[in-house]
Order: sequence, then C-alpha cells, then structure tokens
Amino acid sequence: MPLPDLDRMAVDDVALSVDRIASEMHRQLGNIAAPVPVDQIALRLGIDEIRERPLREFEAVLVTDPERSSGSILLNSRSSPYRRRYSLAHELGHFLCGWHKQTSRKGFVCNKRDMAIPSGNDVHVRQETEANQFAIELLAPKRLISRYLNRLPDLEHVLAMHAALEISKTAAARRYVNSHRERLAVIFGYEGCYQYADRGIGFPYIGLHKGDPLPPLPNVGRDSSISDVEEADPLDWPGLQRAKVLAIQVMRQENGHSIILLQIEADDPNDDD
Ligand SMILES: [Zn+2]
Repeated sequence: MPLPDLDRMAVDDVALSVDRIASEMHRQLGNIAAPVPVDQIALRLGIDEIRERPLREFEAVLVTDPERSSGSILLNSRSSPYRRRYSLAHELGHFLCGWHKQTSRKGFVCNKRDMAIPSGNDVHVRQETEANQFAIELLAPKRLISRYLNRLPDLEHVLAMHAALEISKTAAARRYVNSHRERLAVIFGYEGCYQYADRGIGFPYIGLHKGDPLPPLPNVGRDSSISDVEEADPLDWPGLQRAKVLAIQVMRQENGHSIILLQIEADDPNDDD
C-alpha cells in the first residue's frame, strides 16, 4: 500500500504536545500496516536527507535551524537496523517538536543514554523524554500493538512485537509494560546484575541500583531464549515485599544481557478476599 501524502502544516498546527503530533500523524497515515515506514515519513515531513556513518559517541544527529525549515539526519551505522529506526524516529521528534531547543549550534546531537534513560538538566531530560515518547508512539502505535496486549503477560508477545514492528527488544519491552493493563515492569540486566527498569502504571518502585546483583531468577532452558513464567518470593525483591503475588519471566540475550518481566498482584487493603 503506497504511503499517503503527509500534511506538515496540519502536524505543525497541533504541535503543542507529543501525543497530539503523533496522533495527527497516525490519523494522516490511516491504516498502514507494520512496520511503520519511518524513513519515508521523515522525507515527507521536511527531512531532506538521511545518512549513516559509523559514530562512536553519538547515536544520531539532526542538523536543522530553529525554525525547522529543513533538516538532515545522521544515524550510527554501527547500531542495529532496529535501533537506527528508533533513532530516526527520535530525531524526527526533535524536528517536529518546535519548542525543543537545539542542543548544539547546528541542531541536536543525541547519545545512547538520551534514547534510554536521559540525564542532565531538566530541559534536556524533558526534551529527550519527549523525543523518545514520540518515537515509540510513531513506531508502535496503539492500533498496531493492541493484539499483543489482550492476552496474559508473556515475553513471547514482546518478541512478536519486536519482529512485527521492527523495533529493538528493549523498546518493545518498555512499550509493552507501559501499555498493558496488568501491573508490569521490565528490568534490564547484565551479567546477573541490575542495570535499569521501566515500570508500568501502578507498579511500585524497585529498590535496586545499577550493579546490584539480581535476586534469584527462573532458569532459561537450552532450547529457548525465554523461561517459563514462575512465581517468585516478593521478600527477595527490595520494594516489592508487599506484593501478594510476584511472577517473573526471563529472556536471555546475547553478550550477557537479559530482559526480565515482572508482574505483581498488589495487596489491596480494600480487598476482602
Ligand atoms: Zn535526542
């Protein structure tokens, strides 16, 4: 199905919040199928050029002027194609969010941290968070992910989202826990240690810090990258001691990385059962 023409002025008219920009773009795109053609979309909205080069310190660069009359985007060719799609959507977010202040003289320069857990001054964190929010709304809109959310939580559905939407497993897992109606969180681990977490609505703060050893996790069999969903003891998990039930599932990735899905049933004081 050919991509419809996109109306940049209509997008600019609603450019007051990330949600409104993303939903106006999807309104114009109609019922497009996954994966969302982010490069074609960028080229139709005022980006003149998308290039790739091996970058060391940065993931992506947007060269533009304060008025955003034109833009060109440089992506890190050393990153995976799915990460490059995300980086492109992130830079398109900076381009369309007219209130974002340029982070360098010529535009925006973004690193891996900006695209995962932004840090720095308040304005920087807000801008990077908004660009990430735009990226995931563009690449994984509610219409295209609802089929994965209407079932019991399982990392198999995260893998299916990753494959169909052509987003990284990390981005798919974060979108999943933030969109699912169950109380979910995802932890990113490395060599058995905690790196960072993303918590969906209603999931309590997890009292672990970067580098802390992770509590006991389910075993992953030899023939699969994903474990069964197993019940764990909430007392092993700082911050989650009050959970009535804690279920855990692990996805093993290459190079010592892992993705851990947590689901809790909270101890509701109003619950008479
Ligand atoms: Zn950025």
